[in-house]
Amino acid sequence: MQSKKFLKTKENFTCEQCGLSVVGDGYTNHCPQCLWSKHVDIHPGDRKASCKGMMRPVQVEYKSNTYIIVHRCVLCKHTKRNKTSPVDNFEALLQLSAKQYKK
Ligand SMILES: [Zn+2]
Ligand SMILES: [Zn+2]
Repeated sequence: MQSKKFLKTKENFTCEQCGLSVVGDGYTNHCPQCLWSKHVDIHPGDRKASCKGMMRPVQVEYKSNTYIIVHRCVLCKHTKRNKTSPVDNFEALLQLSAKQYKK
């Protein structure tokens, strides 16, 4: 019974873009493999957004030793900045940042 409670706060989810089972750590708001996110928050962590659209990673910013992914919702075009996590797929991150400079 206790483990159930524990799992709930960890917020595991399945990525709807690539199907990866993501084990949440309380900060995870995007898939570490394909970097897609989901439009679930109005304010970070509140899960109050009714949109639930998939959020495409459109840009990578590099600021004070941290990579920031810019996500854009495919449904409502809302954009949001998210810090990357150490488990994120660095290849995918590099590909994304290469793409934005090629345009
Ligand atoms: Zn994914
Ligand atoms: Zn949205």
